[in-house]
Amino acid sequence: MNRYDSERLAELLLEEGYEAVVDEGQADLVVINTCSVREKAEHKALSYLGRLKMLKRRRPEVIIAIAGCVAQQKGASLLDKVPHLDLVVGTHGLAQVPRMLANLAATGRRQCLVDFVYDFGDRPEGSRRPQSAGVSAYVTIMRGCDNHCAYCIVPQVRGRECSRTVREIVGEVESLVASGAREVVLLGQNVNSFGKGLSGNPDFATLLREVAKVPGVMRMRFTTSHPKDLSPVLMGCFAEIEPLCPHIHLPVQSGSDRILARMRRGYTREHFLELVAALRRVRPDVAISSDVIVGFPGEGEADFQDTLGLLEAVRFDALFSFIYSDRPGTPAKRLPGKVPEEVQLERLQSLQGLQERITLERNEAQVGSITPVLVEGPSQVGEGQLSGRSPQNRVVNFAGQPDLVGREVPVLISAACPHSLQGVVASDGYHPLPMVKETSCYGK
Ligand code: SF4
Repeated sequence: MNRYDSERLAELLLEEGYEAVVDEGQADLVVINTCSVREKAEHKALSYLGRLKMLKRRRPEVIIAIAGCVAQQKGASLLDKVPHLDLVVGTHGLAQVPRMLANLAATGRRQCLVDFVYDFGDRPEGSRRPQSAGVSAYVTIMRGCDNHCAYCIVPQVRGRECSRTVREIVGEVESLVASGAREVVLLGQNVNSFGKGLSGNPDFATLLREVAKVPGVMRMRFTTSHPKDLSPVLMGCFAEIEPLCPHIHLPVQSGSDRILARMRRGYTREHFLELVAALRRVRPDVAISSDVIVGFPGEGEADFQDTLGLLEAVRFDALFSFIYSDRPGTPAKRLPGKVPEEVQLERLQSLQGLQERITLERNEAQVGSITPVLVEGPSQVGEGQLSGRSPQNRVVNFAGQPDLVGREVPVLISAACPHSLQGVVASDGYHPLPMVKETSCYGK
């Protein structure tokens, strides 16, 4: 979501005549787009803002702006605390940045905008700059969230849930495809509840079907999907909509019913396991990734063991795991039973160790198969190597010419690495024989 916002802001600034520079020392305007979902990210952003004081001292004409969740959360108080800061732009104010820059230039007064705006009128349909699309492009379909997970600051900093219209989204997808995108990733805090409040009550499945009709859309993905709202109709889309990739990110957060209730997630461990089984019935090759928070207030050793047990039961293809941190204004901040930091860290390491083994085993199971890879660009693993993704969202590296970028190429998987696969282009009609697994990998 933040990456999408950063891209969108960059587009607006390019339209205003700005150019991107690599070195902040050469910039006329520095914008820090922030995330406050975790304490660490917030600290990082604020400490970078503090360091920009030296730049402002050397070149007082440089404009310094902070945008996104931290700006939304702290508002005008940031202007009081940080004298070298010029603009504070909340999560709904990005489209207003050019106007705020003009006001600053005209009046010399520092600007702050943190109002919530519940329409997408600031984003005319199809307005995406044509030259900006890569092979895979993000499209935001909604913003905000109406859920109340006890640990989460998102509803505070991004406001109530609000969906864009199907027409507007399809317009943006058409524009992205025309400028080279082959894959679109539909983004929302909880895409499963897309459409609330829109005329005609379109649901997320309806939106998926409409996007799939756009000529040139080779692949579709979406994130994030809340388990409590994952309906049979939406699961059925994985069998029905051809461009929809067999991959779902379904954050479980904990494997303990007691902790799930304290987190206010609205589902049980058993319900989550049923969803996984149903998804695999509909689409046996579906890849499932998830998020887990360790060390939530009140999490005991037995709860943590339940989470490890759930990982073994589900065998996620990938997992993002985090240590719980208090966020201001959230119910979890007031919960007793804070888990000591060293215990949180120990649990995180043990959870990550288990998942690394599972991910590697699942990657190893791909060796010897041929998978279609949508080529995204040069790989970081070495000269002459390209990188792309399988339909299951696995990163695949292989040797190939740059003209393959943007195309779907059949790749024979020859080796599994902890976070990626290595392969060779499979020529037409090639059927692999059972092969010995290679053990070397490029370590990506
Ligand atoms: S669904 Fe829960 S975790 Fe996700 S953004 Fe909404 S409140 Fe936060």
